[in-house]
Amino acid sequence: MWTGTVVHGIAEEGLKRAMGDLQRGGHVRDWPLEDMRHAANRQVSEDIDGSESGAWLQRPAKRTGFAEHYYATPVTREDWDAAADEIDRQVITLHENRIYQRLLASADRLTEVEELRRFTVGDPAFGAEVYLAVDAMVGDGKGGVVIIDWKTGSNHDDAEIASQLGIYGLYATQELGIPEDRIVAMHVNLRHNTETRHAVGPTEIALAREAVRAGVTELRAPLKDVARNIAEKDDFPTLAEGSAKCGWCNFRRSCGREAPKV
Ligand code: SF4
Repeated sequence: MWTGTVVHGIAEEGLKRAMGDLQRGGHVRDWPLEDMRHAANRQVSEDIDGSESGAWLQRPAKRTGFAEHYYATPVTREDWDAAADEIDRQVITLHENRIYQRLLASADRLTEVEELRRFTVGDPAFGAEVYLAVDAMVGDGKGGVVIIDWKTGSNHDDAEIASQLGIYGLYATQELGIPEDRIVAMHVNLRHNTETRHAVGPTEIALAREAVRAGVTELRAPLKDVARNIAEKDDFPTLAEGSAKCGWCNFRRSCGREAPKV
């Protein structure tokens, strides 16, 4: 997850720099690879140091805090170095990636880069609000769009990816008025340096709409008061004492399930 956060941040900055150059009336300047790597390395150091020292707790929603530090789980220097090396490797891959370079070359057609959007799915009475931020969206010059999704992890579930891209398609048609047959989604895996083109048409969009409805219905089911979004704590019993899941759950301290220190 951390790898993804840092690498996505570098991709976002690279594309926003290009857009900024054009908005200021200039041409797109190269963000040299060494500078990109340096920015990523600086972020890596800040994240690890801020987490280790506990400084992240001053702004926990904005800064990175590792469960390994919070729960004092032993992590070797080699493990941190391996994670930092993987981030560095993916930044190099990003810089050389064909899709990234094409986005820079057509920065004048970039319409969105990591903008947080909110829209309603389904009829207003049902009122399911969906938040999303596409990694990058670029116009194809013919009334359509290409949506780019960077992936950085080793395991990705195809069904999950299809569902996520379907939501993007739903956003593009419903909120931007893009025709259903003019949406292309590219999933670019920076860990393996592969790219996959996905169909996002009427079928995927209809499935995404249904998935949102089903998911929201399931989430609302245990609420005491759906209109006011109120739940009763007692309706969500904790797992049985000694459950294996509690051993790695990120909430085990708040839940009183943290194993005593030996
Ligand atoms: S520690 Fe986590 S998994 Fe265990 S009961 Fe609490 S919330 Fe559930």
